Amino acid sequence: MKEIQKSGDGVAYALLCNNRKTRLESSSGGAFTVFSDIILHKGGVIAGAVFDEKMNVVHKIAKTPDERDAMRGSKYIQSDAHAVWNEILDYLENDSYVMFTGTPCQVDALKSLADIKGIRTDKLYTVDLICHGVPSPKINRELFSQLSGNGKKLVGYSYRSKKKGWHAHFEEAKYEGGIKESRRGRWLAYSNILLFEKYYTNRQCCCECPYCDTNRVSDLTIGDAWGIEKFAPEIDDNIGISLVLVNTEKGAQLMGRAEDGAKIYKFRLDDFMQPRLNKIPCPKPEKKEEFWDYYERNGYLKMLRKYAGYGMKGRLLYYTKVILRRIGVSKYLKQILRGRSQ
Ligand SMILES: Cc1cc2nc3c(=O)[nH]c(=O)nc-3n(C[C@H](O)[C@H](O)[C@H](O)COP(=O)(O)OP(=O)(O)OC[C@H]3O[C@@H](n4cnc5c(N)ncnc54)[C@H](O)[C@@H]3O)c2cc1C
Ligand code: SF4
Repeated sequence: MKEIQKSGDGVAYALLCNNRKTRLESSSGGAFTVFSDIILHKGGVIAGAVFDEKMNVVHKIAKTPDERDAMRGSKYIQSDAHAVWNEILDYLENDSYVMFTGTPCQVDALKSLADIKGIRTDKLYTVDLICHGVPSPKINRELFSQLSGNGKKLVGYSYRSKKKGWHAHFEEAKYEGGIKESRRGRWLAYSNILLFEKYYTNRQCCCECPYCDTNRVSDLTIGDAWGIEKFAPEIDDNIGISLVLVNTEKGAQLMGRAEDGAKIYKFRLDDFMQPRLNKIPCPKPEKKEEFWDYYERNGYLKMLRKYAGYGMKGRLLYYTKVILRRIGVSKYLKQILRGRSQ
């Protein structure tokens, strides 16, 4: 690539990893794998979020591509990074390259920690996510406890399976022995994603997040290139496209080498201004306290019926919409309703 421009110049990049399998396993276009490959080739290590043996989401260190691959895919739960802070600082003290990926607040915490301890960070590369907010691990444990898997142990979970493409919402539970069970979002995944979208389960501090801005804490920022299908449909093959913001010189160095593993297209940052880049943190729902109180008193499934429409009425409405979409009627209904409201 001729010249890498920064987000400060009003530029954003769309990135599609050349390896189709990688892109299918990643949440967006596989930007995380492309950047982490560069650091692994330099002999460095990668810190990112994985499921541990109890299916909690925690940050770990990967030294090999196989260990790194377990980090692929967004886990829509708060990841516990406490166990890796000191390990990362040890690597930096020993002059190793480290790439840390996580939420902007985690990147900020790591940089502050290194600063307090007086540890040099010239070999630290940071990649943060555009962050919608992190939901409660407790609610997620409830979801996992509902998945029976016919007695098989749950060993992985994809919140963004691409079985039906990047634009569809499918989730996939992975059990020991390679058994997989797909579930269309919302209903069959017990509606946790709907609670996430309605902001009931996000952490309180996410409603006042100071990182929802194009002025980023990290070297590179990655997210979904949502909306690209409208202004560059020719590159949207429905397998996933990453949005990349280059924030610093170090970020520009990595981006400069990314072309070996990916196709990269330059756009205006303005084309991709989603709320979490536009100074708009996730809102706090009016009934958030009531929601948690109801859940504590009545349990998970009752709470889903009340707040995520998981009851009979909600399911009927959902399946009616699915059928109307399948037989092609919903498109015409939407046009009629749009016509009426004009
Ligand atoms: C909680 C959360 C909220 C997000 N909100 C948005 C959003 O509002 N808009 C948007 O455009 N993109 C959002 N993303 C980012 C998006 O889902 C993709 O993760 C991102 O586009 C990278 O995709 P990829 O294909 O490059 O990498 P992938 O291979 O999918 O890599 C995922 C990367 O995310 C890290 N990660 C996964 N789960 C967590 C976690 N729980 N905590 C910290 N790090 C994690 C992994 O370490 C890895 O580096 C969010 C991600 C998460 C985890
Ligand atoms: S929304 Fe903000 S505070 Fe919440 S996890 Fe993301 S970066 Fe951290």
